[in-house]
Amino acid sequence: MRVDRVAILDWSTAGKPRLGKDSIWLGVADASGVAAENLPTRAQAEARLCALIDKTQAANEKLLIGVDFNLGFPAGFAQRLTGDARAASVWEWLAARVTDGSDNAHNLPHVAAEANAAFAGQGPFWGNGRKEDVAGLPRTRPELPEGLSAARRTEIAATGPGSRPKSTWQLSGAGAVGAQGLMGMAMLHRLRLRFPEHLSVWPFEEANAPVTVAEVYPSMLSAECRALCAFNPDMVTDEAQVRVLASALMNLSDTAELMDLREDAKLLVEEGWILGAGHQLTLRRAVPAMQEPPRLRDDCFAMPQGVDWVPVDEALERLRTALKPITTQETCRIGDAAGRVLAADCFARRSNPPRPNSAVDGYGFAHAATGEGPQRLPLVDGRAAAGQPYDGTVPQGAAVRILTGAILPDGVDTVVLEEDTASDGAAVVFDGPVKPFSNTRKAGEDVMEGALALPAGHRLRAPDIALLSALGVADVQTFRPLRVGVLSTGDEIIAAPHLPALPHQIWDANRPMLLTLARDWGYEAVDLGHAADDPEKIAARLSDGAKRADVILTSGGASAGDEDHVSALLRARGTLSSWRIALKPGRPLALALWEGTPVFGLPGNPVAALICALIFARPAFSLMAGAGWLNPQGFPVPAAFSKSKKPGRREYLRARLNADGAAEVFASEGSGRISGLSWADGLVELPDGAVQITPGTPVRYLPYSSLGLT
Ligand code: AMP
Ligand code: MG
Repeated sequence: MRVDRVAILDWSTAGKPRLGKDSIWLGVADASGVAAENLPTRAQAEARLCALIDKTQAANEKLLIGVDFNLGFPAGFAQRLTGDARAASVWEWLAARVTDGSDNAHNLPHVAAEANAAFAGQGPFWGNGRKEDVAGLPRTRPELPEGLSAARRTEIAATGPGSRPKSTWQLSGAGAVGAQGLMGMAMLHRLRLRFPEHLSVWPFEEANAPVTVAEVYPSMLSAECRALCAFNPDMVTDEAQVRVLASALMNLSDTAELMDLREDAKLLVEEGWILGAGHQLTLRRAVPAMQEPPRLRDDCFAMPQGVDWVPVDEALERLRTALKPITTQETCRIGDAAGRVLAADCFARRSNPPRPNSAVDGYGFAHAATGEGPQRLPLVDGRAAAGQPYDGTVPQGAAVRILTGAILPDGVDTVVLEEDTASDGAAVVFDGPVKPFSNTRKAGEDVMEGALALPAGHRLRAPDIALLSALGVADVQTFRPLRVGVLSTGDEIIAAPHLPALPHQIWDANRPMLLTLARDWGYEAVDLGHAADDPEKIAARLSDGAKRADVILTSGGASAGDEDHVSALLRARGTLSSWRIALKPGRPLALALWEGTPVFGLPGNPVAALICALIFARPAFSLMAGAGWLNPQGFPVPAAFSKSKKPGRREYLRARLNADGAAEVFASEGSGRISGLSWADGLVELPDGAVQITPGTPVRYLPYSSLGLT
């Protein structure tokens, strides 16, 4: 079904007019985009829907209205309440009883109590948010009437096997949804009476009228909604939900795939179905990509006037507060997600292990039937193995052959290790006592369903892929990898060593180093080439970089001298801020936005370029990639050298550990000595103040691996 407009209604059961969080939101998407409206009362929302339907009729268009309340109840309810198994009979029953004023005052608890009265015993509805008791409406969860289940089939399909949907029987308390449906269905009946020819309610009726109403479940797109909120800090979840769902459904060229159900027709007429349940991935794929990646503020790199030399820690702190994630997001299959950064929290879809199972090969039995001394238990026929569950119940006093990973059969709570037993095939013999539950694994002992498995910002490594796969997480919301552009500048630079170089020329060492570094850090490296010291040429490369990369690293020309063309250009046409950092080796770090893209201007000296990249670019890029700020993990080691350091600047020395685990440093501190970078396995970090180092003095060692070099 193709539609011209999609409206998503996020309903509310507030007893007074209400705006903002947990109030009524209506999102409407059409070819021109999506808009959301906050409505203080149900009466106003109903009027809005009527106006939308009128408009659709007048324009001879098609409209899909998605509502976030249930349109049916678990099988058996309708028949019991009205004598008719179709959900439509419940809508009518409710419309005849629910009163809902223009001030949002309503009589819902009394209607629910009346529905409960149709059942022998307590009836299914419970939960009363009001002070006064309502006869026939318990405040706590009752036993469900015989034959009624807690959830509809579609709710389980919508939330996946792991999570538990909120029950439509629960009317109040955190996250309760039951009252929404009761009031919503009453409204639906009114709409049907008002537009008898023009409205069909899917899947109870075929979706062939100009207006189709269907139930939706915004939590199916919760990751996408969180992402939208992250980019729009003032947006409440409810607004994000109606926007994301409306635009996703509008973006689907055809909703027929979502409406293709292989379910029992009788069940559908009674319980209904949530649009998109069973087709979550189709729906998620239809969410339009966030058009614009988030932008940094123009003045994000500004340094207060008059600041002279900035200590390293202060410079880091400034970067940390100025920056934020700047890449867009996408959903990907867990198998393709290695190295990606999670953009949303990941929850266990199912417990691990899902059921209690055996930790060893051996024999399983009920502990209660065993005791001290020699035990002899007859064996049942058959066995329980991983993937081949034992179907029957093991009687008390009997045992079953069980293998590692097999689900414990009914009647089994304890397993004895094969090596501790003897068996002739008819019985098993072992020495008691055996501890209850020994050699078994509890359901969920590793992770419980619904538990947070991994938080947003986590970079997925091999074990994380294993964990999420085991928990049934098929797709994850991730940040797209940060694209790091690398540009070298300088008249003396020759792009690559396969090209000839005259004695006054040098081969580019920084660009291949920084491109490799970007890849080591898990980013997409974008080679922006080399530019001579000519403002126009550098500008052209930077503009190219602004299109192809999320962040740009340049090297060379970053100081404030005559030949410092990068900083001159960024000062003239970008938003340059030169940070004079009290750091050796390293000169000013030039930070700027070029056409909105952050540029980290590194010194040309390869040693200084690498150290500035490791110390400043690494944590900053991690933050911009969504993985949060990074602090290198250093540790103290004894020095294997002597040095007298003056106060004023932090210093990084090229270092490696000798056979005794002490740090030796490279013979020369000259910042042009590339060989020293390669000789080293890490850096020794000397503090800002003065220090006197002799062999044995503890110094802080940062292995290259702790700086992301692989
Ligand atoms: P600059 O920062 O442009 O003043 O350059 C400082 C020193 O680093 C000079 O000796 C440059 O020749 C050298 N240099 C600049 N860029 C590179 C590069 N890409 N590869 C190797 N050395 C470089
Ligand atoms: Mg230069």
